[in-house]
Amino acid sequence: MLDTDFFRRWMAATAAAVDREASRLTELDAAIGDADHGSNMQRGFTAVTAALERESPATPGAVLTLAGRQLISTVGGASGPLYGTLLRRTGKALGDEPEVTDGRFADALEAGVEAVAQLGGAKAGDKTMLDALLPAVGALRSSAGAARDAALAGALATVPLQARKGRASYLGERSIGHQDPGATSAALLVAALVEAAGT
Ligand code: ADP
Ligand code: MG
Ligand code: MG
Repeated sequence: MLDTDFFRRWMAATAAAVDREASRLTELDAAIGDADHGSNMQRGFTAVTAALERESPATPGAVLTLAGRQLISTVGGASGPLYGTLLRRTGKALGDEPEVTDGRFADALEAGVEAVAQLGGAKAGDKTMLDALLPAVGALRSSAGAARDAALAGALATVPLQARKGRASYLGERSIGHQDPGATSAALLVAALVEAAGT
């Protein structure tokens, strides 16, 4: 079973990974966007960390809905509403149980990823965060480690793609040959699940 503390550890491990990788995320965004993805994610997850300390949400669902709200309200870029929607929708789908099964979490994350697709209108292969999130959701039915590997592979597989959504799509064919920053941060979010499970 996954308890409230697991979800707090997930958010904390994501915040730490975003801090560690912020300059790389910004470099990737400099190549095909506006060079702010690292600072956007850092600002967002710093706010998530502060809110979780301040409010001590009591259930898994409350942890994720609170985190999602912070991302929406603090991140100016496209990634804020998208990641915010991911976490809010996942949290809502977890309901108000004090603990959830792995299967329930996989269902909830699937609902969250669908909400991202709906909000942003992107599909698999459009060179967005969805290219890491969609394969991760399928693999999470097996294990968090499988989800991490699938998300990383999905992020790496964005390199040869042409962007169809977001700022990078303005570059047309010049977006080819670069790894998508949002798919890269999504892989960090999924990898943080393994860290959260390991303690
Ligand atoms: P902005 O592009 O507004 O500066 P960020 O740099 O923080 O925002 O985030 C860019 C990332 O957001 C992209 O690399 C991509 O993965 C993701 N993204 C942008 N638009 C969409 C969309 N419509 N659907 C899904 N993801 C998107
Ligand atoms: Mg940007
Ligand atoms: Mg921006």
